[in-house]
Amino acid sequence: MTRNDSGFGGTNGEFDVCIVGYGPVGATLAILLADCGLSVLVLEREADIYSLPRAVHFDDEVMRLFQTLGVSARVLPYTHVSPGMRFVDAQGRLILDWSRPMEVGRLGWNASYRFHQPDLEGVLREAAASKPNIDVRLRADAFAIEQDRDGVDIRFEELSSGALGRARARFVVGCDGARSLVRRLIGSALIDLGFHERWLVVDLLLKRDIPALGDYSVQFCDPARAATYVRGVGNRRRWEIALLPEEDSSQATSPDNVWKLLGRWISRDEADLERAACYTFHSTIAERWRDGRLLVAGDSAHQTPPFLGQGLCAGMRDVGNLAWKLDRVIKGRMPQDILETYQSERAPHVREYIELAVRLGGLINTRAAGTAVPGGLARDQPARMESIKPGLGPGLSGGVAGLTGQVAPQPMLSDGSRLDDLVGYRFAALLDPWLAASLPGALLERLRHKQVVIIADASPPLQNWLAENRVSGVMVRPDRYVLGAARNIQDMESLADAV
Ligand SMILES: Cc1cc2nc3c(=O)[nH]c(=O)nc-3n(C[C@H](O)[C@H](O)[C@H](O)COP(=O)(O)OP(=O)(O)OC[C@H]3O[C@@H](n4cnc5c(N)ncnc54)[C@H](O)[C@@H]3O)c2cc1C
Repeated sequence: MTRNDSGFGGTNGEFDVCIVGYGPVGATLAILLADCGLSVLVLEREADIYSLPRAVHFDDEVMRLFQTLGVSARVLPYTHVSPGMRFVDAQGRLILDWSRPMEVGRLGWNASYRFHQPDLEGVLREAAASKPNIDVRLRADAFAIEQDRDGVDIRFEELSSGALGRARARFVVGCDGARSLVRRLIGSALIDLGFHERWLVVDLLLKRDIPALGDYSVQFCDPARAATYVRGVGNRRRWEIALLPEEDSSQATSPDNVWKLLGRWISRDEADLERAACYTFHSTIAERWRDGRLLVAGDSAHQTPPFLGQGLCAGMRDVGNLAWKLDRVIKGRMPQDILETYQSERAPHVREYIELAVRLGGLINTRAAGTAVPGGLARDQPARMESIKPGLGPGLSGGVAGLTGQVAPQPMLSDGSRLDDLVGYRFAALLDPWLAASLPGALLERLRHKQVVIIADASPPLQNWLAENRVSGVMVRPDRYVLGAARNIQDMESLADAV
């Protein structure tokens, strides 16, 4: 392993960043950091990818992150574009319609993709394996983590041999899931957002096509027993079924019980039972996401009921936000305090998703009691639901503030290229050509020195977006959120200062 400009080379057990947990969030963070040139150690307790049924949906923003990682082309064949979700009452009447556009949207991707989590994790691990500056240790259980002024000591057990290992890193990120050790070491309590329910989750493989099941996901808002149907990729179909308080979790997954519960939709003759598991869905956010050199991301920082399909998506956004900040701190280009903006920006954002998922959970469970549909929409007629795209919480900013914290679009540029393919995981100044032409040489030089990619493109999608927002340029961060906007050269100077 080669030494890099940050001074930690991954040799002698010393790394820039140690990631505890090689789930989808840990793997994504490893790739982002490695692409920044940092050395990364990943410790994972299990021998292989987790095989029980979990995520089935991700959104356009997450596909955009896969584009940044260079894996979108490898992920796409494992996806199915989803037309959306419908909520029906116990009599099968449509009460809420959350249809998604089937066209590519303003982030450059479709709004909603179905997928199978182990397929995605396979692609991410393959990409991580191709990076020489990522050292993955499977069956390595981190059990002690101690920080000092300059770094962190990590101790782990090689579970196959019982041997104890040691490593040192500048930072440790716990991507170690709901029962996170790193979160406990940070000393963070969990803020409880009120939803805790046991559900049975079942994946089936159809033996033949059953068009009547449909492409839409369906939430059966039946107070007797709530359930969810999800069309998966290929012949895979998912049902999630609420368990009643008196039902025993271990008996719930027995094939006889599963087929009995599925009887109203499908029979044994029509599909094979692939996997069944019971989960308790929670809605929590960690009170503290960082203590000095220790941070948490993904399920270790927050958990959501899956009704919006946003748990993994939120974890991906966490590491998109965190990796470039860690990179700059480790390379001495930004002060460590900048890491405080990781939680201040991300926590309010993920909270909006969790709170909406909890409200939807309430609708799914208690429709008969006349629960209002989210957003105060009328409940006696099918209401339409739109996807939310919250802004970031308070954090980094510069220039004109109106768009700060909003996700920037990914327009197709005049030469036919996609914006993010040109920019990579860097800052980009998206400028009206007249503003670009008027920038003083010294400012341009300063932006280039800060590795800001300057895009002065006359393509209508970009120019229209700038015009709609009455600005002549925006500074977009590596995670595609807007740092701030500019109407003139002074605003651009302020943005250059803020980068
Ligand atoms: C039924 C269900 C449906 C879901 N549907 C969706 C969906 O449609 N869309 C969506 O976005 N999300 C969904 N989710 C949520 C999604 O699956 C999770 O948010 C996601 O897997 C979290 O990823 P992670 O990398 O943070 O954690 P995990 O995938 O849990 O990975 C954590 C890893 O850390 C390892 N680890 C823990 N402690 C240690 C240690 N001390 N040392 C070494 N390794 C350690 C674990 O072995 C594990 O591999 C769903 C979840 C469930 C259960």
